[in-house]
Amino acid sequence: MKLISIIIPTYNEEKNVPLVYAELKKIFQKLSDRYAFEIIFINDGSVDDTAGEIEKLASVDPVVKFIDFSRNFGKEMATTAGINNCNGDACIMVDADLQHPIELFPEFIARWENGAEVVIGVRKASKSDSMCKKLGGRIFYKIIKLISDVPVIPQATDYRLLDRIVIDAFNDLPEHNRMTRGLIDWLGFKREVLLFEANERVEGEASYSTFKLCQLAFTSIISLSMLPLRIAGYMGIFIVFAAGTLGVIMFVDRYIVDWGMNFSGTAILANITLFLIGGVLISIGLLAFYIGHIHSEAINRPIYIVRNKK
Ligand code: UDP
Ligand code: MG
Repeated sequence: MKLISIIIPTYNEEKNVPLVYAELKKIFQKLSDRYAFEIIFINDGSVDDTAGEIEKLASVDPVVKFIDFSRNFGKEMATTAGINNCNGDACIMVDADLQHPIELFPEFIARWENGAEVVIGVRKASKSDSMCKKLGGRIFYKIIKLISDVPVIPQATDYRLLDRIVIDAFNDLPEHNRMTRGLIDWLGFKREVLLFEANERVEGEASYSTFKLCQLAFTSIISLSMLPLRIAGYMGIFIVFAAGTLGVIMFVDRYIVDWGMNFSGTAILANITLFLIGGVLISIGLLAFYIGHIHSEAINRPIYIVRNKK
């Protein structure tokens, strides 16, 4: 029988832990003739009794595993810990708040059995999202699409199934500043998407504030690309070119053939200053290339990922 690990990051979810467990048990029963399961709860430094609730379950049900963080490290680290510690032939990451419909597990598993190595839950727009979150998300994905080397699917969530080979490849990634789903996308492999409609959160409140979301967006952009820094370089090239051309015209007009343009001294000075600023910006752009190299050496990602060797 194949083993499937369910990875659930929890932060202040004391009320949701028993609920999500009950839902899981229901679905396990339906699939029990073909699959065995383990549930890995990660308590991400909750300040309520999430840990107690998980321990209660773990003490009566050997299927439940418990990873207890010493403090809040964030969802990305919690899911990473789950992936690092799972034993399954595949794992499914799912939120504790029941926003990710657990009824879809059979669908995820079916796609996996049909050869998909990553099954990505993609969220249809939800009524409960604020205008700001919707718009922010849209802009974020526009930017990411522009700058990212790997194809990014808009509205893709952390609700995902990973095959064992993807789990092993993921576990080889050493970087510290991480966005789990970005890294999974980077890994490649055969991917399939599964559309779902997100439920309303059952209990408690979403802990991702607008600020935290912006921070996450910023980390993703920075870790995906050096473009923001390179833009300075491109601007520099443009400025040097424009100011240079103008400078030549000024020089010719003043000292060689009089075109009667009569540039003032201030204009000439301004143009020289502009030219020099362009030079500085080009240097920044060049620095970006060097930093880019240092960055990719420092995060020390494997330079390629192999599916299998024969
Ligand atoms: N979560 C976590 N650590 C955090 C914040 C959230 O482990 O610092 C968990 C949370 O318990 C939930 C999931 O990540 O299971 C998604 O969080 P939330 O519902 O707050 O985010 P949203 O639904 O807005 O994406
Ligand atoms: Mg949620």
